[in-house]
Amino acid sequence: MKTHSLFKRELASFFILLPGLLLMSSCQSAHQEQAVTPVDFSQVKIEEGFWSPVLERHKQTTMAVCIDQMENQTGRIQNFINAAKKEGKHSGIYFDDSDVYKALEGFAYSLVNHPDAALEAKCDEWIDWMAAAQEEDGYLNTYYTLTGLENRWTDMNKHEMYCAGHLFEAAVAYYKATGKRKLLDVSCRFADHMMSIFGPGKRDWVPGHEEVELALVKLYETTGQKKYLDFAHWLIEERGHGYGVYDIRFKDHVEYFQDDRPVAEMRSIAGHAVRAMFLYCGMVDVTSYLGTSDYMVALDSLWEDVVCRNMYITGGIGQSKHNEGFTADYSLPNKEAYCETCASVGMVFWNWRMMRMTGDAKYVDVLEKSMYNGALDGISLTGDHFFYVNPLASDGDHHRKAWYGCACCPSQLCRFLPSMGNYIYGMSDKGLYVNLFIPSNAHCSKDLDVEQKTAYPWDGRVELTLHPRKTWKKELRIRIPAWCQEASLTVNGQAVGSVQEGNLSMDKGYAVLVGSWKEGDKIVLDMNLPVRVEAADPRVKEDEGLRAVVRGPLVYCMEEVDNPQFDKLSLTPDTQFTLTEERPLSDDIRCITATGKGGDITLIPYFAWDNRVPGKMQVWIPYQD
Ligand SMILES: [Zn+2]
Repeated sequence: MKTHSLFKRELASFFILLPGLLLMSSCQSAHQEQAVTPVDFSQVKIEEGFWSPVLERHKQTTMAVCIDQMENQTGRIQNFINAAKKEGKHSGIYFDDSDVYKALEGFAYSLVNHPDAALEAKCDEWIDWMAAAQEEDGYLNTYYTLTGLENRWTDMNKHEMYCAGHLFEAAVAYYKATGKRKLLDVSCRFADHMMSIFGPGKRDWVPGHEEVELALVKLYETTGQKKYLDFAHWLIEERGHGYGVYDIRFKDHVEYFQDDRPVAEMRSIAGHAVRAMFLYCGMVDVTSYLGTSDYMVALDSLWEDVVCRNMYITGGIGQSKHNEGFTADYSLPNKEAYCETCASVGMVFWNWRMMRMTGDAKYVDVLEKSMYNGALDGISLTGDHFFYVNPLASDGDHHRKAWYGCACCPSQLCRFLPSMGNYIYGMSDKGLYVNLFIPSNAHCSKDLDVEQKTAYPWDGRVELTLHPRKTWKKELRIRIPAWCQEASLTVNGQAVGSVQEGNLSMDKGYAVLVGSWKEGDKIVLDMNLPVRVEAADPRVKEDEGLRAVVRGPLVYCMEEVDNPQFDKLSLTPDTQFTLTEERPLSDDIRCITATGKGGDITLIPYFAWDNRVPGKMQVWIPYQD
């Protein structure tokens, strides 16, 4: 595994500072096998372009909303205080601790690229309460501490390990951001507590909501303690053997928890969408270290099943409110679509890991779709209102809210957005991968910095300038999105080839450029971004006779506020589309006008709907031949 210089330095200092706790000799490190090592977001600066206002709002507004909700509007922080003092009651839901951990993880990511003493002090204050709330034996969960510790570890669907996983992720993030390890120590003690009860020769346990598995791998990566990786593997292997004990209502529905068969035998997606995503992430992570190749066979099938038969055009997944998850193949209702924000973020996490293992751009195509549509839709243009459910049609009665009783989605976005720089670049022994088109300055390795300029997704021109320390003889792999039918590549003004002529050297969805790169070399990818009118698979009955309008990675929709004749408008084969100069939402957001039957149609990007006057919305639009 390649590590960042920053990370290496921290790891080194922490061994020097605490030799008694974690001795090098006690670490049996496993070698990570992955095709592509991502360039960590800490090395990627995003200061302009499409995502810049989103990130600015996260910094200015979203984090403050999270703090206010955790401390003042709800009792989430009070639960930790009460647990620390062993007095008072627990308020909220039994998994509410996880929201605090996720918000804290987001704050940590923000601190990496935007140091902020007041925010760091707030994090330290929360961490002090978390540490104080930890039981003598390492257990940490405010719900059970305040409602009766004697009942802990009795119901596998009470999210104890789910909350633990989010604690571990926050601890790792904060340690990497600040070098402070108080929460990391709390995490190790909690993980050790779990391992004293569960594991080979001890009690069986199947976490009802996956998450701890991928988090234990992060704990392993950060501490070098292989026991955490092995415990993650053991927990994944526990599934599908009848060990799960849940509420009687789930007796015949254990696929809801992905507990119906051993994971290596899974071939089709089932159950709760977010749980499935987190499980698959954990499976990839474990595979990358332990080489459990049968997991990748299962994950390939599962990916096919999700993407080809159970995913919306927005990259959203999990059709049904009933199980917050999957139903039948090709059953994709629009108005009733569930598409939880967390599930779209989960698709980003999982597809990113699949790309890292395989170096295949098909996973980035899906990642990008989920990121720009299903996930980004979860937050308002003001950064302070959130969707939990992301339908593809509305009668005007579905709106973002300031918060939710079950607040997984706002806190999910709080941690996803400031770390999105992770997905842009990757490195391998062969060279550099350019996955996403986001203007940025990246320190990709000790030998190479890269500058990317682009107005994507509004415009298809991407300029890359290379800054190698010395002549750099490696490949550049630049993703050509699957939807892109027309694009040309130049190096220092010289044409290299184009997609339409079929003369680019392509591998797994990347255009491959081989060269001896030197300071200032400029590569330009020029993609044509026509409006695409897409029909659904004919097996999707809900979309029969309808079409969706797409441009680049962005799915468009029509809202009643722009289209007073909403119910009378339709697209035809003769419809002309124009990227209009009118910007009713904000200066940053480009809209499309279409000459429809019944009048002109104004289309806005799907992620931006429900930011103005309430009204009807649809992604799939009537189409008349
Ligand atoms: Zn959620």
